[in-house]
Amino acid sequence: MKKLFYFAFISLIFFSCINNIKDRNGYDPKIDSQIDSLVSRMTLQEKIGMIHCNSKFTSAGVKRLNIPEWHMSDGPNGIREEISRDSWAPAGWTNDSSSYFPTGAALAATWNPDLAYQEGEALGEEARWRGKDVLFGPGINIQRTPLCGRNFEYMSEDPLLISKICVPLIKGIQSKDVAACVKHYIANNQEVNRSKVDVEMSERALHEIYLPGFKAAVEKGGVYAIMGAYNKFRGTWCCENEYLLKNILRDECGFKGVVLSDYGAVHSIESAVAGLDMENGTNKPYDKYYFADPLLKAVQEGKISEKLINEKVRHVLWVMMKTHVIGGQRVRGSFVTPEHFRTAYRVAKEAIVLLKNDNKLLPIHSEKIKSIAVIGDNATRKHAHGGNSSGVKAKYEITPLAGLMNRLGHKLTLNIAQGYVKNSEISKDRLVFHRNKKEEEQLRKEAVRKASLSDIAIIFSGLNHDFDTEGYDRLDMELPYDQEKLIQDVVKANPNTIVVLTAGSPVNLSRINNVVPAIVWGWYDGMEGGNALADVLLGKVNPSGKLPFTIPVSLEDSPAHALKSYSPENLRSNYNEDILVGYRWFDTKDIKPQYPFGYGLSYTTFKYSDLKTDNETYHQSDTIHVSCQITNSGDMDGAETVQLYVNDPECQVLRPSKELKAFKKIFLKVGESADVVFGVAVKDLGFYDEVTKGFIVDPGKFIFSAGSSSRDIRLSVQVTVL
Ligand code: BGC
Repeated sequence: MKKLFYFAFISLIFFSCINNIKDRNGYDPKIDSQIDSLVSRMTLQEKIGMIHCNSKFTSAGVKRLNIPEWHMSDGPNGIREEISRDSWAPAGWTNDSSSYFPTGAALAATWNPDLAYQEGEALGEEARWRGKDVLFGPGINIQRTPLCGRNFEYMSEDPLLISKICVPLIKGIQSKDVAACVKHYIANNQEVNRSKVDVEMSERALHEIYLPGFKAAVEKGGVYAIMGAYNKFRGTWCCENEYLLKNILRDECGFKGVVLSDYGAVHSIESAVAGLDMENGTNKPYDKYYFADPLLKAVQEGKISEKLINEKVRHVLWVMMKTHVIGGQRVRGSFVTPEHFRTAYRVAKEAIVLLKNDNKLLPIHSEKIKSIAVIGDNATRKHAHGGNSSGVKAKYEITPLAGLMNRLGHKLTLNIAQGYVKNSEISKDRLVFHRNKKEEEQLRKEAVRKASLSDIAIIFSGLNHDFDTEGYDRLDMELPYDQEKLIQDVVKANPNTIVVLTAGSPVNLSRINNVVPAIVWGWYDGMEGGNALADVLLGKVNPSGKLPFTIPVSLEDSPAHALKSYSPENLRSNYNEDILVGYRWFDTKDIKPQYPFGYGLSYTTFKYSDLKTDNETYHQSDTIHVSCQITNSGDMDGAETVQLYVNDPECQVLRPSKELKAFKKIFLKVGESADVVFGVAVKDLGFYDEVTKGFIVDPGKFIFSAGSSSRDIRLSVQVTVL
């Protein structure tokens, strides 16, 4: 009896260990045998039906096996309005107005992974309620150039910040039985000619800059789906690229889910062989596209094995099971709830970045003034619907003016002036302007007059989705519609002028920066953006956002442009700046930006002290614990994002002068102090070595710097790696 008990105990331990190993590898014997059984009962035609679209956003199920149609949807910052089955025309539903969350760049500007998780949960709930199984987002391409039309959707120029935000976002979405789908794999860093350009970059740049976000999405976020990009990578379409799809994604990252194509990004059935699972973005008759009749025929003729098709179907079924499309109790979801609106508000308020605040012009003490001039097209413009596939038919969107009115009631006089007119439109694939100089002049004069009558003037300026949009890059980094002139004239009339920028990409501030005392970056900040902005301007909220990208003084300062390696008409794009993307370039080349990566002011101040490591020397397998004390030394409760950068001064290859290795956002009351502790694995300090095809940490000195931005380093400490 005793022996039997002992045997049972040992077996239990053994099997639970085996199961753990299986789980860690994403392999679940129960799911696997169910998948085997389903695949074995499917006809070839049924299998093919599951790996291509049978409408704009669905693929076929197999009714007799209780496999439902698979429902996919955009997008990354709100569930897209319902599209007709066979065209891009809106389906005309009246119950599909969803919550609209701050877009990717804004979310990243919070530097708050908890908020990313909450936004993910809300997106997942809304997707479920709308009957969606896969959500196309987040978009995590690197913001390589200030001009990229989709920078507002993407998160950052820095791979660590992207990873730290996208992982909890994915987990949040997927916790609601919806597959997140990270996009666009890989190097879709420009919109002009995105479906023609061929990107060439070094293996080092790929592994240090462009890949880590996707890798983290897979390895840490457990993402269920990935969308292949439109462009070519080293001569081969991304959706047909064996190196990307098999070697990196499956072999190196261990991806178990579905790789689907961007819309219309498949060019031949070779994609199936190279590792793509599903063709998306086709039109009626859907059967004529590559992953339908041509693929079926190729299998029937023995040119492609059915085993390959089985593998793809297995990937789809695996995701279906993980999200309980098949089997298990499924999350029902919820839609446009007050809790979702609150989440949108929380993200929005933490995203707003205070760039400049001379003479403490902000926050506005509303009890001490009588009037505010509210100027600019972006005071009243709604942005939710714009930008193309990430556009949202929002339940509501609070504009900046509405936010001010909500918060101020009738306490103050708001002198409202249009200031400038949005005289652009995208027509026949081109941005065209219809200028009316007389009207522009009149609007400017009116704004100046109202500013001079008011105690404070706020100009709501920046861009809109004619500029920050899928499908196009901007032609330059300038503020459009003569806004600079408006700003300069208004400041002359009223020196207490605050500029609030709505934009998702850097704009040229060099000519207004010294003229204006206060500048706030407001993003496309979701349905609650206006309320959040008003709360920051009026001091109910202490701003805590930090820039997720560098704002250069001029476009020519930024790496791809300095090296003339961004040339949208050139269909071969060589990433000559290599690993020196964003602040890595500015800091290493010692080029002063207008505003650096990681920058953002607060209404309070923070003191950094006592930066130390737990040892002086470390082995390659160690973790370095770096700690630092932060004190709120000002006179308002607030939050600081402490950023930890590393420099490797003794390395066989060029290293950037700074690389972000960790960060932590910390909320402190006035006078309060707290210790921030970071654990950085030595193995994460390395560079990618193209010869050994792996990361190497060169022994020697490493310098850790803690700072409030990449250019505001407060303390540094040195360690040695053996
Ligand atoms: C975009 C994707 C989007 C898809 C479906 C493509 O043009 O690049 O991001 O998910 O359309 O709308």
